[in-house]
Amino acid sequence: MRTPLLAVLLAVAAVPLPAAEVTVLTASRIHTMDATHPQAQAMAFDADGRILAVGDGTVLLARYPGATRLDLGAATVVPGMIDAHGHVLEQGLSHLTVNLIGTRNKADVLERLRAFARDLPPGAWLTGHGWDQNDWPVREFPSAADLDAAFPDRPVWLYRIDGHAGWANSAAMRAVRRDLAGSWQPDGGAIRRDAAGKPTGIFLDNAMKLLDAVKPALDDATTERALRLAMQDAARNGLTGLHDASIPLSELRVYQHLADRGELPVRIYAMADGNAAALDWLCENGRYRHPSGRLQMRTVKVIADGALGSRGAALLADYSDDPGNRGLMVTSPEDLQVVADKAHRCGMQMATHAIGDRANRTVLDVYAKALGGDVDGDHRWRIEHAQILSPEDLPRLARMHVIASMQPTHATSDMPWAEDRVGPRRIVGAYAWRQLRDTGVHLAFGSDFPIESLNPRLGLYAAITRADADGKPAGGWFPDERLTAFEALRAFTLEAAYAGFSENELGSLEAGKRADFVVLAEDPLAVPDAQLRTLIIEATYVDGKPVYRAKP
Ligand SMILES: [Zn+2]
Repeated sequence: MRTPLLAVLLAVAAVPLPAAEVTVLTASRIHTMDATHPQAQAMAFDADGRILAVGDGTVLLARYPGATRLDLGAATVVPGMIDAHGHVLEQGLSHLTVNLIGTRNKADVLERLRAFARDLPPGAWLTGHGWDQNDWPVREFPSAADLDAAFPDRPVWLYRIDGHAGWANSAAMRAVRRDLAGSWQPDGGAIRRDAAGKPTGIFLDNAMKLLDAVKPALDDATTERALRLAMQDAARNGLTGLHDASIPLSELRVYQHLADRGELPVRIYAMADGNAAALDWLCENGRYRHPSGRLQMRTVKVIADGALGSRGAALLADYSDDPGNRGLMVTSPEDLQVVADKAHRCGMQMATHAIGDRANRTVLDVYAKALGGDVDGDHRWRIEHAQILSPEDLPRLARMHVIASMQPTHATSDMPWAEDRVGPRRIVGAYAWRQLRDTGVHLAFGSDFPIESLNPRLGLYAAITRADADGKPAGGWFPDERLTAFEALRAFTLEAAYAGFSENELGSLEAGKRADFVVLAEDPLAVPDAQLRTLIIEATYVDGKPVYRAKP
């Protein structure tokens, strides 16, 4: 029954390339995210990483005889995932500073510092965070002397867990130009000194600025190193694209150097940092795209309000647990309008952080005014987080074609206290990705890494369960807002690609698109929800080349 069909296919199939330049991948299943052919077992792509065909293994192997065979056995293949909102440099920097959380004593601290310093160039500052003397046998502040024997020449500067104290060694204190001895104190801070007036190495609150001011500024080499580390994290977690939510022009230059050298393992969709040099550069030169397709910038990111946890999110009415407080706008409506008008004039996408219902309404008003009669054009303006929406505003996103760029793990992190902040009525429009999606909004998912883990498996799990790691609350928090696994995966692939104007190239596996894909040991659309968090990523491919493999 198969032979005649195969014969016909062989007769008509053109072989556009020498067979050796084609790879035919076969797997137990491929979730293509292509609505017309959602499932397949094979995919052919060329040496440039362009997908030639997706379909049946027998057919594709016959069509490309002599092609390199990539047999993935029982694995499941899905399109490369895209995190639509994260902070790449900050993610990388978290690797470049020593984590001292949970240290049991000073010896423990020194051990972690020594291990970390092995990879540092001589003389480079060793910085860390997270120590807490209350966890140690002697609950007293440590001193510079504790660090000096191990680090006589290398400056060491370590933040306490709450960020309100810093611990320096003598080499770091020598870098401060002012004499730290004596009895003077800075405003709003304290230098701890011994009986003889000599600083002990502990600096409280504003006194920490003395050290922060002499700590070397981030140079391009460190920036590059941090970006590389973050991109490795991404590849290891099945991410092939990152939307970098706000970078200055200087950081774009570092990315450009990496792209020129072919050293961007994942795709970066960078956003300009508000009404500053990067936006001016975009307005002057137009939308930016590196020839490799690995780096783009055509977006300006602005922050409208604060966060819900610290009651900084701008609400239309008082906080339910703090009468009289309605939060605050970080950027005034007038200043938001200036940026929106400029973005529209320059043909750039706008992405605005808005958490509270007042901030979200303001952003929608600002977008409406800037776009005017042109609102139905292909602008794809975004609201980042879109956490609390008033019922009247919720349908406006779909009407205005505004993308909701949301982070499922924010919901599950915030759920223990979110209702305390906004009360039982407003919580109904909070983290409302199901309601938004069902009104026709394009829903793009991300994590806001490193605030939350960049691991998209945790985001998929949170979107589907609305529960914590232990599955609590049972059935999920406001379970009507849960998505199916397919819908959640779509938000991390095709919809995130759409939010980056890349859905014609990325986000699904179909002929003509880029071979960006993830190889999973199990089927994310079939495993029990709890297993999503630990799904094994066997490999991540970008442009048909592995950028991560679990086994070499
Ligand atoms: Zn963010």
